[in-house]
Amino acid sequence: MIKLAVVGDPIEHSLSPLVHGGAMDFIGAEYAYEKVQVKKGELPDFLSYAKEKGMNGFNLTMPHKVDILEYLDEIDDEARFFSSVNTVKIMDGQLLGFNTDAMGYVMALKSKGYSFQNSRVVILGAGGVVRTLALKAARLGATDIRICNRTVEKAEEIARLVNARTGVSVSAEEFSLERIVNAGKTCDILINATPLGMHGVERDFEDLSFLEVLPKTTLVSDLIYNPAKTKLLEKAERLGLTTLNGLGMLIYQGILADEIYLAQTLEKEKIYEAVSKKINDEVGL
Ligand code: NAP
Repeated sequence: MIKLAVVGDPIEHSLSPLVHGGAMDFIGAEYAYEKVQVKKGELPDFLSYAKEKGMNGFNLTMPHKVDILEYLDEIDDEARFFSSVNTVKIMDGQLLGFNTDAMGYVMALKSKGYSFQNSRVVILGAGGVVRTLALKAARLGATDIRICNRTVEKAEEIARLVNARTGVSVSAEEFSLERIVNAGKTCDILINATPLGMHGVERDFEDLSFLEVLPKTTLVSDLIYNPAKTKLLEKAERLGLTTLNGLGMLIYQGILADEIYLAQTLEKEKIYEAVSKKINDEVGL
């Protein structure tokens, strides 16, 4: 029996049990998957609990992806590059850290026929996930990366980090219609990494007219998966643009984590289909 968990705060609405449960059901593995609410600063208590219970690993979500680093025995190259861990495997009492978030996103991009290589990328937001995605985009050969954020200093911080780690130059811009329109004119992949339009968040984009200036070949990607179709994606679709919601990233990062726990290559596309069906059946997304 493989024993896993997802750890975060808040955690009650996490879809991780459906993602990992769907994958384990598909391969016929016997498993237990817990949702554990762990507040910031309380990771050490959870780590003792995980070891006592004989867990094989756990997934991490907000606010622990950086805080976990100091407790790990080993960190793989990709997670070290991002300074962020979303997957911990426990082996012989040792905690091994990995990050499958960026690769999960890359797989979701691929499912729509897109990749970061030679792409011009515009990212809205500059939180934890943007640091990881901007580093990955630069590493995979994006030719132009622009980050527009409400607090422009946070975008500048990520731009400096990406430049220091990859040599790729990234521009940091204000989160204003004018700046987004300007960036959007030469954009292959637009990513919304703000919570604007998310279920339970009151605020949404006040003006989506920046979508009208995008080249017709641009992919519009929202990291939000609830609702499945945000107003951003709805309008992009109406304009004939290709769209991608956040479910693809969520599911693929989970399947990649399961490959790490099980130390085996899984049939990712088939599992993706099974998991998305399960999520659709159970929560309508
Ligand atoms: P985060 O660290 O909290 O960052 C949120 C970002 O959104 C910040 O840059 C913030 O700007 C900006 N923002 C918040 N409210 C805004 C507003 N009213 N107007 C303009 N900008 C606003 O969050 P995160 O972890 O990076 O996650 C970002 C989004 O990605 C969330 O929606 C999250 O659910 C989603 N996500 C999805 C997946 C997936 O698997 N699909 C994985 C990770 C994250 P300031 O810097 O000015 O505060």
